[in-house]
Amino acid sequence: AKYVYDFEEGNKDLKDLLGGKGANLAEMTNLGLPVPPGFTISTEACRAYLADGAEPQGLAEEVSQHLRALEEKMGKRLGDSDDPLLVSVRSGAKFSMPGMMETVLNVGLTDASVQGLASQAGGNERFAWDSYRRLIQMFGKTVCEVPGEAFEAALEAAKRAKNTHNDLDLDAGDLRALVDEYKKIFSEHTGRDFPQDPREQLTLAIQAVFNSWNSDRAVLYRRQERIPADLGTAVNVVAMVFGNLGADSGTGVAFTRDPATGEQGVYGDYLQNAQGEDVVAGIRNTVPLQELERIDKASFDELMRIMATLEGHYKDLCDIEFTIERGKLWMLQTRVGKRTAAAAFVIATQLVDEGVIDLDEALNRVNGAQLAQLMFPTFATDGEYRPVAKGVAASPGAAVGTAVFDSHRAAELGAKGEKVILVRRETNPDDLPGMIAAQGVLTSRGGKTSHAAVVARGMGKTCVCGAEALDVDVEGRKFTVNGQTVSEGDVVSIDGTTGKIYLGEVPVQPSPVVQYFEGKVEPECDPLVAAVHRIITRADSVRRLGVWTNADTGEDASRARRFGAQGIGLCRTEHMFLGDRRELVERLILAETDADRQAALDALLPLQRADFLEIFRAMDGQPVVVRLIDPPLHEFLPGLEDLAAKVAVAEATGKDPGKDGVMLVAVRRMHEQNPMLGLRGVRLGLVIPGLFAMQIRAIAEAAAQCRQEGCDPHPEIMVPLVGAVQELETVRAEAEKVLHDVFTKAGVEVPVMIGTMIELPRAALNAGQIAQAAEFFSFGTNDLTQMTWGFSRDDVEAAFFSRYLELGIFGVSPFESIDRDGVGRLVRLAAKEGRAARPDLQLGVCGEHGGDPDSVHFFHEAGLDYVSCSPFRVPVARLEAGRAAV
Ligand code: ADP
Ligand code: MG
Ligand code: MG
Repeated sequence: AKYVYDFEEGNKDLKDLLGGKGANLAEMTNLGLPVPPGFTISTEACRAYLADGAEPQGLAEEVSQHLRALEEKMGKRLGDSDDPLLVSVRSGAKFSMPGMMETVLNVGLTDASVQGLASQAGGNERFAWDSYRRLIQMFGKTVCEVPGEAFEAALEAAKRAKNTHNDLDLDAGDLRALVDEYKKIFSEHTGRDFPQDPREQLTLAIQAVFNSWNSDRAVLYRRQERIPADLGTAVNVVAMVFGNLGADSGTGVAFTRDPATGEQGVYGDYLQNAQGEDVVAGIRNTVPLQELERIDKASFDELMRIMATLEGHYKDLCDIEFTIERGKLWMLQTRVGKRTAAAAFVIATQLVDEGVIDLDEALNRVNGAQLAQLMFPTFATDGEYRPVAKGVAASPGAAVGTAVFDSHRAAELGAKGEKVILVRRETNPDDLPGMIAAQGVLTSRGGKTSHAAVVARGMGKTCVCGAEALDVDVEGRKFTVNGQTVSEGDVVSIDGTTGKIYLGEVPVQPSPVVQYFEGKVEPECDPLVAAVHRIITRADSVRRLGVWTNADTGEDASRARRFGAQGIGLCRTEHMFLGDRRELVERLILAETDADRQAALDALLPLQRADFLEIFRAMDGQPVVVRLIDPPLHEFLPGLEDLAAKVAVAEATGKDPGKDGVMLVAVRRMHEQNPMLGLRGVRLGLVIPGLFAMQIRAIAEAAAQCRQEGCDPHPEIMVPLVGAVQELETVRAEAEKVLHDVFTKAGVEVPVMIGTMIELPRAALNAGQIAQAAEFFSFGTNDLTQMTWGFSRDDVEAAFFSRYLELGIFGVSPFESIDRDGVGRLVRLAAKEGRAARPDLQLGVCGEHGGDPDSVHFFHEAGLDYVSCSPFRVPVARLEAGRAAV
């Protein structure tokens, strides 16, 4: 196997093999740019090393060969005592992981070669000793795990002795003494002397870089950024150039455009008389790159030329690291630069205007996650305010309001137009009205998949959950945090993007991008909005997937429509049974006779009809998929434990528990060990006579009325949790009767499609049969995921997801992004067999995955007709559907 590549042998497309840094160093070398010579040890070597715990056969010999070639090119030998070649040993993975892994500079310096380095530098002793102490420090820290603080303390002490804060005030003698001190620290911590064999230094440094792939912070970073754990890092061995040779030397970083806004110009920092890591470490103040023009015009001009070459070559914003050694410019790194979400859009369209890329490529240069970021309001001046605590950043945005501790009060104040933050220990479905009314939701328990988090994300509502520092006292209407008490009515600010919680009001700025989607501002109002407009317009014109929305109210439906939704893919009806209507639902459940039951249903009918009418009007001309009632009925009844306690207390004090007693019997009767697998979905419809019929009648009557008003309603009736075609056939027969009855009476005919959710593995596996009775399928990927994996999404996060992510069993929660190999296969199979049985079968998806960028690409590939997601994700899905198509 070949493990080592000279820079001349590589190019920018070999990132898998050479890592990003190595591939781009090779590219720059081959462009004829001034790159110090060197070679790259491949990621393959790293993988072999990490798998076996030892260097693969032949690697050492190959490194030695390439080192000899490097020595010849430079006319120096590694660590030679008269004229030493020094090298840097640098990590560099396929995906940039800034600052996560290790780099060792000045490898090759020893007690002997430090003298040679000084005389070669014209007797510059200070420089030589400075370089040596840096080597011992970096080598000690990264290769031998000597705590960095030990070295820093010694450096501080040396500066204190000279009464200075500036490294540059340490002279050759001080640095030489510091080297002695460092060597002592090194041997104390490692039990050996600092290695004086340059080749041994090189080998150990290479192995340390390999090992840094698995450092804690690298592992954590990869998990956050969804970078696979098994790629490994390459190692770059680069001839050293020196920015610390004096005032005519220095080092810097630069961007070809402003990475925060995309504006063209010269952006960067420069530091005279320093080595690379000083700039990032921020130990001395850098000067703006513009200053370099004054300090060293020739190098500045060359740098500008090179930056233009790189942008032209990479056709994108690049960031670079460079060093100037005695007036000679050297390029040490480049890559297509990271940028803010806003800059990504602006830069992409600028490049289109400059004729560098076309609009399809611009579409590829941005993504849905970036667009989502641009849609949340932000705190205007985060820096000036100090958070009092931090929780889980569960649903982004910036929310300010008065703390309120129960849903009812939140809804009450919200109705009066007050801005409130609902603060709970955790939330449950009862809190929904309060969550809707609140600006944001704050809980002290639960993670990213807790009820509060899932519901808030669905609504595009700011949420910070699991803030354990908060002691929430719902009864006392207050919480305490770090010794401070916040009572109902006190103002708090929560940042769902960072998880930070502030006491008092932090100023908020609304997102101009949302104002644009809302139709409140013209695209030309601002360069960012103009860029978003151009790119999303392109996405709409190329995408094949429709984008629908999940909405339960006319208001949500209208907003989603403004955001570009082409239909409602999921209108949940259970939310319509909460609040005041709960009593009617209780009556329905507790009904002992057919007449009682029918009375309850008759009371619910007009309320449901009004709900649907509002939605059909808002969605005039577009499809609305209404899902018949889905959750277990006992969710509408009081909790068993609370109720049992209440009744017990009443009985103990000799009082008549009254209605509570009757209720308790019902609650006991309906109690289920495992309600997720219990009486819900279509099973309810088949067990409770008249319930589905009432809903279907409400849909049909609303549609008929809507049509009579001159609107164009397109209702679709969706039956949840079907596993067998017979279930669907039974409901369909009943539905057709009701529809016929309503439309005959009303004297209008509205076409109504009847279909089902595919959310049980059995349904997916029998899609061909089910399609006989279904005009459409909508993949309910939330349930399909929990049923396929066999885990409950309400419980798994706390229980074991973090361990699973750690072990790499999945790279990202399957509830967040579709599990292509398992759930995805069921989707593909059901789509194929369903379409085979009924070629015009309409296929959509209505789980949370409908708004997840990766999943949207999957649904495009799987040939679905549309994705449906929460209103706030609609623009994201439009963009990603466009990206999937180009
Ligand atoms: P990172 O990936 O963390 O940026 P690098 O490998 O780029 O780490 O190296 C850290 C610093 O050392 C950078 O500022 C770089 O410019 C500098 N550096 C690396 N190699 C050399 C070299 N051969 N000569 C001079 N400086 C170098
Ligand atoms: Mg770097
Ligand atoms: Mg479901």
